[in-house]
Amino acid sequence: MADRAFRPGTAIGDKDLLLVVDVQNDFCPGGKLPVPHGDEVVPVVNRLAAKFPHVVLTQDWHPPGHFSFASTHAGRQPFETVTVAYGPQVLWPDHCVQGTPGAEFHPTLAVAQAELIVRKGFRRAIDSYSAFFENDHRTPTGLTGYLHERGLSRVVLVGLALDFCVRYSAEDAHAQGFDVIVVEDACRAIDVDGSLAATRRRLGELGVATVKADDFA
Ligand SMILES: [Zn+2]
Repeated sequence: MADRAFRPGTAIGDKDLLLVVDVQNDFCPGGKLPVPHGDEVVPVVNRLAAKFPHVVLTQDWHPPGHFSFASTHAGRQPFETVTVAYGPQVLWPDHCVQGTPGAEFHPTLAVAQAELIVRKGFRRAIDSYSAFFENDHRTPTGLTGYLHERGLSRVVLVGLALDFCVRYSAEDAHAQGFDVIVVEDACRAIDVDGSLAATRRRLGELGVATVKADDFA
């Protein structure tokens, strides 16, 4: 696969996009759904972003009472999995509610040059892990079309959490025909029920390159 063509020292070019996934307060320590050590990605992301000609951010952006919240389902607890119309859905603590401080980007994230913010998860009845499709795998966010119109062909993924929103964004980017690279030391995982091992396995099967931030020239 083209994805495997990446070698340490590979130069970043005009067609490369850094896609910064959900680096928001609620996913960092002290937030409503903290990813362990989630804030540690911020300086790595800032350093990398300075090297990229194009940066796009995603922002988890739920209305109150969102379907993915355990509090919306009577008798359910956070981190339980339920089966819904589009398949299994993990129930989460309330997080990234539109307009709240928890939904804001981490205060030390320094990517003012970002060209687009993709908000996702704003439909009350569908969760959205991926930057490309909601969890029904059919409802697009519009990002594929944006990248095509902009002539961007390689997607370099960083952010939170590696085993959910980064993973599904990587899978969808690959399926949409983009070259995909995941920068592992610029991500942190939640690791629910073996989700981190499953992520590594799946990305390996797809031939998605996993690299370190220092591997870029
Ligand atoms: Zn969410």
